[in-house]
Amino acid sequence: MELLEVRNLKKYFATPSGPLHAVDNVSFVIPQGKTLGVVGESGCGKSTLGRTVIHLLEPTSGSILFEGRDVTNVSKAQLKKLREDMQIIFQDPFSSLNPRMMVSETVAEPLKIAGGMSREEVEKKTKQMLEMVGLASRFANSYPHELDGGRRQRVGIARALALNPKFIVCDEPVSALDVSIQAQVLNLLMDLQRDLNLTYMFITHDLAVVRYISHDIMVMYLGETVETCGADELFEHPLHPYTKALLSAVPVADIHHKEQRIALEGELRSPINPKPGCRFAARCPYAKEICHRDSPEAEEIFPGHMTRCHFVREINGL
Ligand code: SF4
Repeated sequence: MELLEVRNLKKYFATPSGPLHAVDNVSFVIPQGKTLGVVGESGCGKSTLGRTVIHLLEPTSGSILFEGRDVTNVSKAQLKKLREDMQIIFQDPFSSLNPRMMVSETVAEPLKIAGGMSREEVEKKTKQMLEMVGLASRFANSYPHELDGGRRQRVGIARALALNPKFIVCDEPVSALDVSIQAQVLNLLMDLQRDLNLTYMFITHDLAVVRYISHDIMVMYLGETVETCGADELFEHPLHPYTKALLSAVPVADIHHKEQRIALEGELRSPINPKPGCRFAARCPYAKEICHRDSPEAEEIFPGHMTRCHFVREINGL
């Protein structure tokens, strides 16, 4: 069953030079219990997309369906309920935690705001959450600055889980952590997904991380989706020139691996009032005249494998 369905979502910001198209016509579905990885360079709109889906930002247009219900425009009361179902884990646990609150207070805070629980119930639930994320009870009375990065992120995860959400936006949740800690936090997120049937949107610029945790992957470039498919399919058969360039930059621990790194040259187009045409045209080695004039439509090239490029067949010998 699809837990989340997003159709033609747009999020524009007003700027003195015109509207900034941070998210432009993005559509996707995430089945319950699965992870959609969203990958792209910084500024591609992936974090704005995550925040818009859970109503930390209001969409400019498009629709968001959660469990089949249209939640694009919600009242304050509906938003309160939606906040229980949809949560976010931020990149930098240090700046997202209140430095004056102890771990137990941080995890208890959403429970108190939601209301309906006695003091004892809140205490019991807080203890349960800390256990669930593998944080020893001796840290319950610690402050964020007394914890290392991995433990701080475990607090962030416990807080996000406190209200039993169904869907979590994980916004670069391991990027600020040491590499040795990253795997522990990723494994924790995957264990929690399996145990609680959680659905994730996992936003990252790190391709190794996105492959490890995702079922499907969506590649974004300047506010648009350029390719979406299963995680293994993306790494084995990337179709879009931008995806190919991104993947060619991932180090491979194999001396027989001959693939050349594709350098991305040319300037990033401005997302403010973008001109017609393919947004990748200025950096694409295959660009022809039509690319600078007409925007390519999203097209399903193989079942479940969507991309957006005028010359996808020629480039891939299909
Ligand atoms: Fe490159 Fe043209 Fe395809 Fe865009 S549409 S990715 S510019 S070949």
